[in-house]
Amino acid sequence: MTGTNASDTASPSNTAEMDTSVSTRLFEAACELFPGGVNSPVRAFRSVEGNPVFIDSGKGSKLTDADGNTYIDFCCSWGPLLHGHAHPAVLEAVTRTMAKGTSFGAPTALENQLAELIISNNKYVDKLRFVSSGTEAVMSAIRLARGYTGRDKIVKFEGCYHGHADSLLVKAGSGLVTLGTSSSAGVPAGCVAETLVLPLASREALEDVFRKYPDEIACVIIEPVPANNGLLLQEPSYLQFLREITEQHGTLLLFDEVISGFRLGFEGAAGHYNIRPDLVTYGKVIGGGFPVGAFGGSNKMMGCMAPEGPVYQAGTLSGNPVAMAAGIAQLTLCLDKGIYENLAAKTSNLCNRMQQHADQMGYPVKIFRIGSIFWLALTRSEAIRSASEIDPETMKTFGHMHRRLLEKGVYLGPSGYEVCFVSTVHTDDDLARAGQIFCDVMDETWGIQPAKSH
Ligand code: PLP
Repeated sequence: MTGTNASDTASPSNTAEMDTSVSTRLFEAACELFPGGVNSPVRAFRSVEGNPVFIDSGKGSKLTDADGNTYIDFCCSWGPLLHGHAHPAVLEAVTRTMAKGTSFGAPTALENQLAELIISNNKYVDKLRFVSSGTEAVMSAIRLARGYTGRDKIVKFEGCYHGHADSLLVKAGSGLVTLGTSSSAGVPAGCVAETLVLPLASREALEDVFRKYPDEIACVIIEPVPANNGLLLQEPSYLQFLREITEQHGTLLLFDEVISGFRLGFEGAAGHYNIRPDLVTYGKVIGGGFPVGAFGGSNKMMGCMAPEGPVYQAGTLSGNPVAMAAGIAQLTLCLDKGIYENLAAKTSNLCNRMQQHADQMGYPVKIFRIGSIFWLALTRSEAIRSASEIDPETMKTFGHMHRRLLEKGVYLGPSGYEVCFVSTVHTDDDLARAGQIFCDVMDETWGIQPAKSH
């Protein structure tokens, strides 16, 4: 095998064929059970070489697959696992809570505890509502924005993903401001008729849309750290402009912080950029690896939600006690002093090492990073701020690199458009090994054979 063997974690080998026969069998069986063999499309490895590896277990920064190969994990369940796999504090809280029952459909003190923990450490929300996914959080926050403002139109940006609610599965047409067309079969035109799609990073497009519809837009939704189509880091002044222009028009600014919330800092991207959104959505990290989402805003705005107000939203498993316990455990750890600074520093070290190697060798690679999120872009551009600047031709090369990384013991999300995440439990040794593997795979990709030992 070439994935790092469980019994030989010190030195990943890259000589023999990686044995993935159990994963292969499981994937064949899964294809009979699920469309494409998976329960979420990107897991299907359609954009990279090979078939999905089936995971047996995770511990700390490592994953072990069904064949016993181990990997240093930079997917971290697509972001939630800020403290790595099976963190003892999370496991203890979950086990203790589960023993008392798993769901009641009635309030528990745990919901109060998680909400208090968040609200007392995050100045951007006065009141929250818990839901069970990021999609649900965004869908409900959009409904709230429409209910609160009495307006129907919403603005989103090309390259930002906000889950799979009908009105957000939209792609841009041509031109600066476009009425969206649905990006999925099964979404009626009527569902996206009120969704306007703009390119990121264009002040002109924003000015244009507000000129056309000065008092019709309920909200502008953005990932303040767009991390679903590469990492399209925006200028802080652009985000500030967005804040100002929405305010001038009585339009709500909705920060979708499903990825950035509790990852960039306890106050997410809002805190990082010091910009107050009117509404904010959370997911991923908030649930400690369990299905939790949330949306929040001012008391006045949240007062529009049922049963206090006229905007309806509900959920059988919302605020599930086991999920709340996991969230409390994980977010409590996030309050430790220096957590986010350390995470950013070690991610920066890893990225600098990779970038220096790429630069020295003249490879077309740029590592974009913010906090503990990074994206390996196959480009020579110094900045990529909008979806259209990504060259789709590079994805084939990424697909091959992904396979080689896997074979050498590094697990990334299976698409060149996906970002990577570093957790608090990635050790210096993990990052040194992973850095070397990244550099070796770059060497192989552009034709230089790496040295045999490091
Ligand atoms: N919003 C953002 C920014 C996301 O990244 C995602 C998922 O990746 C979602 C919303 C949807 O969250 P979920 O997959 O939990 O429904």
